[in-house]
Amino acid sequence: MAKVGARGQRNPPQVAGDERVGARSSHLSIVRLSYPVPVPPSPHAEDGLRLMAVHAHPDDESSKGAASTARYVAEGVSVLVVTCTGGERGDVLNPKLSDNPDIAANLAEIRSKEMDLAREILGVQQEWLGFVDSGYLEDYRVEHRDQLPDGCFARVPVEEATRPLVSLIRAFRPHVVTTYDENGGYPHPDHIMCHDVSVAAFDAASVPSAYPDQGEPWRPLKLYYHHGFHKERFEALHTGMLDAGLESPFSKWLEEWVDRPEDQGRITTRVPCGDFFPVRDDALRAHATQIDDEGWWFGVPLEVQQQAWPTEEYERARCVLDVPLPEDDLFAGIR
Ligand SMILES: [Zn+2]
Repeated sequence: MAKVGARGQRNPPQVAGDERVGARSSHLSIVRLSYPVPVPPSPHAEDGLRLMAVHAHPDDESSKGAASTARYVAEGVSVLVVTCTGGERGDVLNPKLSDNPDIAANLAEIRSKEMDLAREILGVQQEWLGFVDSGYLEDYRVEHRDQLPDGCFARVPVEEATRPLVSLIRAFRPHVVTTYDENGGYPHPDHIMCHDVSVAAFDAASVPSAYPDQGEPWRPLKLYYHHGFHKERFEALHTGMLDAGLESPFSKWLEEWVDRPEDQGRITTRVPCGDFFPVRDDALRAHATQIDDEGWWFGVPLEVQQQAWPTEEYERARCVLDVPLPEDDLFAGIR
């Protein structure tokens, strides 16, 4: 993998891409780069389908899009999870482990081992980009970057942080790339940076003059953003719990839910994957320092979830092909 921090040719923004569907600007993310004259769309699936899922921390791959990932693996799709940071500045969120000073002192190493286990459970390949976790900052906005620790992921210039991902895209040659929306899903600095770097790398990977020392250009066909935390889903789970005669963990949450105009109408693609919810949960439990296995995340029985909301949702942000919406498959139009 390319060394993080190595400098090479820079390609300043010139002409915006013309295949954007639903791409939005944000007050949170850094202005994205765009490039001139890409190579033609990459070939369809002659040598098998490939999906690249770019995530900020170890555990995000098991909490965002994990069941659809497991479904695609079961279908024979090659899946590469890219983890931007080591999660070094995460907290120990499992109350059973939070009192152990050895765990806090060796968190990076432990999270790496947790990732190994989750990778095996999901059946994916996985690569680290090697950046350092930025830590969480309440009410983070990009103009607060200087308050983050020196050298952390969110403080690396986007052009520089994009380089190793361009290298991986050109080596793995994915047809589909997934990442977070411009708000990061939630405003963790690393999630927003993950979005910025993923979009920049998606666009740059197909441009011969961009990062010319990072491999042969490759043009992925589609880019998606995860959208797992939306009201429609939680309302369905809430109703499913009540219908099953169980107490809903979402009552208060839904009462206090604030609808934001920028969240409306984003979902383009719903992937059925209820059969793979158990794999998703096992992968998440592998990140033992990051999840309370008796907490609210696991508070809805699998059967209720499978009945009430058996899909994972995405927003198609780029599509090189002419594929109608809505979709029920990230590979719609490619297979
Ligand atoms: Zn994360």
